[in-house]
Amino acid sequence: MNNEMTLSFVAIEENEALARMAMTCFITPLDPTIEEISEFKTIVSEAVTNAIIHGYECDGKSLVTVRAVIEENKVTMTVRDEGMGIFDVEQAMEPMFTTRPFMERSGMGFTIMESFADSLSVESVLGNGTIVKFEK
Ligand code: ATP
Ligand code: MG
Repeated sequence: MNNEMTLSFVAIEENEALARMAMTCFITPLDPTIEEISEFKTIVSEAVTNAIIHGYECDGKSLVTVRAVIEENKVTMTVRDEGMGIFDVEQAMEPMFTTRPFMERSGMGFTIMESFADSLSVESVLGNGTIVKFEK
């Protein structure tokens, strides 16, 4: 069964749970294992949290957009923000790199996403925003 969804919400931390639940419902028809569900939730959670807290600094008005497509049992998902963008994507993706150590961030978000997704790509333009794309 092919399917497609788009969900947009303002940048407040509470909306991370909304995105996580929506994606969980969206992939349910694929009959995922508990482990796959848990990996999906983690990927969504890390990407959406990054957009909310880093992209928009939780401004409560700018929109994060999650788009997902199911095609032949494969899920492709993009998480997009039009926020501050990433200075150096390669550096940002290194394990334990964070620009917010004072917020108790461990800098492991991208590393975790990479380990759970089949593929992960990040496009970012400083001052323009970030698009994170996964396949699983
Ligand atoms: P953790 O995810 O472990 O809580 P973190 O968010 O700092 O910590 P990553 O998710 O790996 O770690 O992200 C690394 C860095 O990349 C962030 O500290 C931030 O500087 C930058 N970054 C990630 N996503 C975005 C985004 N959407 N917009 C702007 N900067 C981002
Ligand atoms: Mg993170």
